[in-house]
Amino acid sequence: MPSASMPIPTWTMTTTIRRVAMPGQPIVPRSTNSPAQTTRQLKAARRSIRESLRVVRDGVIERIQHDMRMMLGNRSDRYRYLLDQGQLDAINDYIAGLIAQEVMRGNQGDPIIVQQSVTAYEAATAAAVTNITTQSEQAFRNVEQTLMSEPYRRRIGYVRSRVFEEMQGFTDQTRTDLARVLSEGMARGESPTEIAGRIRDRVGAAMSRAEKIARTEINTGHRRAIWDQDEQANADGINTRLLHSSALIAGRTRETHARRHGRVYTRQEVEDWYSRDGNGINCLCTQTSVLVDANGRPLSSRLPKKMQKRGQSFRAEAYGHA
Ligand SMILES: [Zn+2]
Repeated sequence: MPSASMPIPTWTMTTTIRRVAMPGQPIVPRSTNSPAQTTRQLKAARRSIRESLRVVRDGVIERIQHDMRMMLGNRSDRYRYLLDQGQLDAINDYIAGLIAQEVMRGNQGDPIIVQQSVTAYEAATAAAVTNITTQSEQAFRNVEQTLMSEPYRRRIGYVRSRVFEEMQGFTDQTRTDLARVLSEGMARGESPTEIAGRIRDRVGAAMSRAEKIARTEINTGHRRAIWDQDEQANADGINTRLLHSSALIAGRTRETHARRHGRVYTRQEVEDWYSRDGNGINCLCTQTSVLVDANGRPLSSRLPKKMQKRGQSFRAEAYGHA
């Protein structure tokens, strides 16, 4: 069990987990609409994406409008730009620099989204460790010891570098995209205002791409942390399986996801399920390690049964059949 003297990270103060009345029971998410509890990280990521890409958008538009108006030749029915390759390169370098600054160094020198993904992994690790130590006397690592352990540090380093690479790819694509809009627009003789409009559209598309990366990485980090701790528990001789919690939101939750609510699966089954049919995309579900007997049945079936019942009535209501 965590000792009284261990430092309490700030996010645990607002985290929405509850202890089920009976001691030793698994700690499942209380929030039924967002079992994965990554709402805060997703919100923070969305905010930083919007902030940084707005700076990019406004900076690029200001720069090209200024430069292009200086280079306008005689206007007939089309805009003709007196622009040499050196000047175009200078604008493109400016765009690349601005994106690098805002995206790759936008969060205190780190790429945006990285911190929120790391936080999602860390928070889910802490919750998973607390859940396992609550159920088993055999658990010998508390949250603090886990977060300081070598395997944890290696894994969090992996999360960080993976998201870093994603953002590098995002940056390259955005830079190429904006450079193309600029050169094509000029070649077609579009006005600075028309080109600015296209830039605005492309930055909007970049925002959607970045939000998709954030959703994927934050939710993957959350799930990966739970699976990693589940694996660790079993390596430590604690027999567990993963209890599935679905969001159960009518009109949003996929029936195949709702059907798993309250059921237990091996880690391999869960990982396989997420790797197919796009199950990981926009999934709000989560899993909780539960202690099982030698046959893989939960030591206490109280909670899974209660959840299955709830899932059944949800399905009857949402899809018209259980
Ligand atoms: Zn789901």
